[in-house]
Amino acid sequence: MIYFDHSATTAVDPRVVDAMAPFWAEAYGNPSSIYGLGRRAAAALEDARTRVAAVLNCRPAEIVFTGCGTESDNLALRGVGLAGAARGRRHLITTPIEHHAVLHTAADLAEHFDFEVTILPVDRAGLVEPAVVAAAIRPDTALISVMYANNEVGTVEPIAEIGAIARQHGIPFHTDAVQAGGYLSLDVEVLSVDLLALSAHKFHGPKGVGLLYVRQGTKLWPTQTGGGHERGRRAGTENVPYIVGMARAVELAQAGRVRENARLSALRERLAAGLFARIPDIALSGHPTHRLPGHLSLVIQGVEAEGLLIALDLAGVAASSGSACASGSPTPSHVLTALGFSPQEAMGALRLTLGRENTEAEVDYVIERLPGIVARLRAL
Ligand code: PLP
Repeated sequence: MIYFDHSATTAVDPRVVDAMAPFWAEAYGNPSSIYGLGRRAAAALEDARTRVAAVLNCRPAEIVFTGCGTESDNLALRGVGLAGAARGRRHLITTPIEHHAVLHTAADLAEHFDFEVTILPVDRAGLVEPAVVAAAIRPDTALISVMYANNEVGTVEPIAEIGAIARQHGIPFHTDAVQAGGYLSLDVEVLSVDLLALSAHKFHGPKGVGLLYVRQGTKLWPTQTGGGHERGRRAGTENVPYIVGMARAVELAQAGRVRENARLSALRERLAAGLFARIPDIALSGHPTHRLPGHLSLVIQGVEAEGLLIALDLAGVAASSGSACASGSPTPSHVLTALGFSPQEAMGALRLTLGRENTEAEVDYVIERLPGIVARLRAL
């Protein structure tokens, strides 16, 4: 099988598996226990926190470990949103191309907690204009949330510029960095962010673990209360093996990213050139250059993505039509429609996301097979 769906998830790196191994049956203590076994788990947890903090250029105490990227986004929006509401701030600013972890949480705050949500426009490439963010700020704005890189079209947003604007106005700024984690700088000072969400399974770590960076001084109400773990910001016994794995995974991804990004961009360009030369009536979605290195997203006229994905699967290629959760659902993507594609065009979306184990030979195989598949589906 050729795996071209790295934006959906990635294989766990064997070095990550090794790092996690001691924490299942051997060093299985609860990090809150005071005896040796517990202390060993607590030491591993704090070591992981320190390693992650070094990658993010923040203090270890600013890292909150969570159960996934979705939870991190929820904690950012609800936690900061509700803390803001307590001080009379009930306005959120976000974009129409966010993951549903952000959009549905914002909608929930609007429906049940009287928030007003400003959804900013994006351009045809999916870029958010920083000046438009500035213009949307109000005295009662509680939080700005703009994703770092889009999962469906790969566009990378000008986070540092937006962060500078948010800072000027003293408004907390959250970025969903789930898709960026394996490829882009996560330095929270350079990015000028107050909150940043990550999910380990997008960068060769395990599924079901994530983190939220919370800048010191940011008012955040916990959404999950209990034993006071994670400095009272996220109760629940910490998932030590997964957290250790996530720390190793983010270190490995960040250490190798410059070289790997160059390799992935070259593979993506080869794939794009091959497909554009051989398939008529296709368009790139997302930004041509400000995009994730291995991310190629296309809109293919006259085909339905579902048929395309099934035919690709039969040819041994795993791909998707957009976000993993949207695949198989008959509604057009909210991201593509926000970029100005018609619902009909959006139904022909194909996302090919390359990653660490992909090769030129695999790219060439897809260049060879996809044109025939598209021609066959168009003839039907
Ligand atoms: N945010 C973005 C941009 C994503 O692409 C995803 C997953 O696809 C998530 C959030 C949710 O992350 P998780 O799968 O860890 O809940």
